[in-house]
Amino acid sequence: MIKFLDLQKINLAHQQEIEERLLNTFRSGWYLLGNEVKQFEENLAKYIGAQHAIGVANGLDALRLILRAYIEMGVMQKGDEIIVPANTYIASILAISDNGLVPVLVEPDLETYNIDISKIEEKITSKTKGILIVHLYGRVVFSDELVSIAEQHQLKIIEDNAQAIGAEWNGNKTGNLGDASGFSFYPGKNLGALGDAGAVTTNDEELAKTIRALANYGSNQKYVNIFQGLNSRLDEIHAAVLDVKLKYIDAENERRRDIAKRYLSEIKNPKIVLPENPANEAEHVWHLFVIRTSEREKLQNYLTENGVQTLIHYPIPPHQQEAYKDWNDLSFPITEKIHAEVLSLPISPVMTDEEVSKVIRICNSYA
Ligand SMILES: *Cc1c(COP(=O)(O)O)cnc(C)c1O
Repeated sequence: MIKFLDLQKINLAHQQEIEERLLNTFRSGWYLLGNEVKQFEENLAKYIGAQHAIGVANGLDALRLILRAYIEMGVMQKGDEIIVPANTYIASILAISDNGLVPVLVEPDLETYNIDISKIEEKITSKTKGILIVHLYGRVVFSDELVSIAEQHQLKIIEDNAQAIGAEWNGNKTGNLGDASGFSFYPGKNLGALGDAGAVTTNDEELAKTIRALANYGSNQKYVNIFQGLNSRLDEIHAAVLDVKLKYIDAENERRRDIAKRYLSEIKNPKIVLPENPANEAEHVWHLFVIRTSEREKLQNYLTENGVQTLIHYPIPPHQQEAYKDWNDLSFPITEKIHAEVLSLPISPVMTDEEVSKVIRICNSYA
């Protein structure tokens, strides 16, 4: 069986270096807010090109903390509206509602699966304070039009960069395009830890300071609390692993691009709609390779029977979840179509050429 994602193989590719760093961390006797986190934050900031990187406990917290910090800074207040794509992973939306802010859902573009920027302006009201863009499946969503909408209405652009580390728009990395960005290092992400981990990047010094305090009980100085904060810190042990793996992210993303290129040119089946390859290849890091088909269940079963594991990202749109009952009667036809038809093929830096060939062969033999 070709696994959807072979995490063991992904991490064993760096076994010696990771084991050395883990052993050092273990023996150091220092497990929180120490040198490993400091070093990883510096290297992440440098990689992204941002002035500040703050390690936090996970990707959801990264986004929650950005919005919470804007509330503490008086930039936003409870009840304000944040624009967000209707087809995102639910965490983007949870980060908004958890802060007492109101998520305003906008339909995606069927070709890119990213928020349809031309549909943002019609949703802006006097309460709108930000746009949470999501580089879904690893593909950049950004444009001059987006920047001018944000400037005109004085909106913060917050990036959910959980799926797109390493992607670039006009030579700038995602995580450095908007005002602040949340990263997830969940094990299955392109840069994955050995458990939960996340980070925020920003060029806004006050925001960085506020987030750093909020994530540490609201304290910048031990036992002095300026906010009613939370505990959301990046562990030393995860930072050590991430700092090793960060060195290889470009090479690993390049391998993902090679696989995507083969899928795009060699999968030829009228029943399968392939994702669009952006004209500028730097704009995609292929966290997921998502196809569409009107016969999803049948195709998925066929792939499974022939030894290819697939997953669905995601089966139920946020507005149809029980968690957001008030939205259950709303209609987002493009979002609903995407959730009904998408299927993710295996893609990862450790897939062999033979495995890629097999996935292509099985997709092409489906009738
Ligand atoms: C993974 C993910 C998150 C949440 O990250 P966690 O580290 O799992 O909390 C948020 N947004 C998107 C788009 C994600 O894919």
